[in-house]
Amino acid sequence: MARIFNFSAGPAALPESVLKQAAEEMLDWHGSGQSVMEMSHRGKEYMAIHAQTEADLRELMGIPANYKVLFLQGGATLQFEMIPLNLMRGIGSADYVHTGEWAKKAIKEAKAFGKVNVVATAEDANFSYAPAHSGWKTDPKAAYLHYTANETIGGVEFHWTPETGDVPLVCDMSSNILSKPVDVSKYGLIYAGAQKNIGPAGLTIVIVRDDLIGKGVPTPATMLDYKTHADNDSMYNTPPTYGIYIAGLVFQWLKAQGGLVAIEKKNIEKADLLYDYLDASAFYSNPVRKEDRSRMNVPFTLGNAALDDEFLKGAKAHNMAQLKGHRSVGGMRASIYNAMPLEGVQALVAYMKEFEAAHG
Ligand SMILES: *Cc1c(COP(=O)(O)O)cnc(C)c1O
Repeated sequence: MARIFNFSAGPAALPESVLKQAAEEMLDWHGSGQSVMEMSHRGKEYMAIHAQTEADLRELMGIPANYKVLFLQGGATLQFEMIPLNLMRGIGSADYVHTGEWAKKAIKEAKAFGKVNVVATAEDANFSYAPAHSGWKTDPKAAYLHYTANETIGGVEFHWTPETGDVPLVCDMSSNILSKPVDVSKYGLIYAGAQKNIGPAGLTIVIVRDDLIGKGVPTPATMLDYKTHADNDSMYNTPPTYGIYIAGLVFQWLKAQGGLVAIEKKNIEKADLLYDYLDASAFYSNPVRKEDRSRMNVPFTLGNAALDDEFLKGAKAHNMAQLKGHRSVGGMRASIYNAMPLEGVQALVAYMKEFEAAHG
């Protein structure tokens, strides 16, 4: 059976070569006579996979030695709580930038643990832009400043990194991690659920600076304390071993693509192709301010919403899936993460042209 072009926002498409390798290694990983899924997480085979996965992520992102990489569970959503539990309690307040649906959820959860200052919001224009740093009303005593690097639903992405001085910068990178190089040293903590740009759902990656570990007052419950996981190499309890293994294959794939500089180039090429067409078309439109448009998630609407179902049916007939927009915004959304090949975006644009010619 032919594989579809999968534009899902998450869980999302994985590189085909990674899936093939996983299939080949399914019954017998490297002559061990077992699947990675069946391995003891304390055995030498799995420990080697775990260590290599972390080493490859460190290499790809240039993670400095004074940062811990944690492989956790609970999704980015649990981090909405673990972050204030570990970093805000004891200090009392934190700054948050409100850019849309995901920022809103992070803000809501943090409020249970202290005072949340919303230092900037794009609500005035229906979250269609990233608020300029110059207007942020930050608190120099805040425990941290939190922002959402890419709003997966609204399709708004920060193409710059805020400078926050001594206030640790905390970032939800769930949907654009590994899509481009970032200077990790500018951050106190970066977190991401795996199912957008890393691997299968069930794994959450937290990259946290040493000095921010073990600070929560009162000390968070054991499983919610970064210190527990940092002190035990993410093996305090059984980690999501298979997800970590697949993430490791994705990291090796990324290295083979030329790393993050090379993948960024490809991502720009894909995004430009789609946005240039959207802008040239009188039938489709995207509401996001040009300089803040996401390279990962491209929401768009049809000139006539009554044609949405027909558009989706036609897409399916063209082997393209998951283009329906998020239920909160309607319309369409094409998620074009690292694993989406250029051919997938070319096929989408060709289909959109065909549809516009027939209905525009
Ligand atoms: C998907 C997503 C989340 C939620 O991730 P879960 O793993 O489902 O908890 C949070 N933030 C952003 C930016 C996302 O894209």
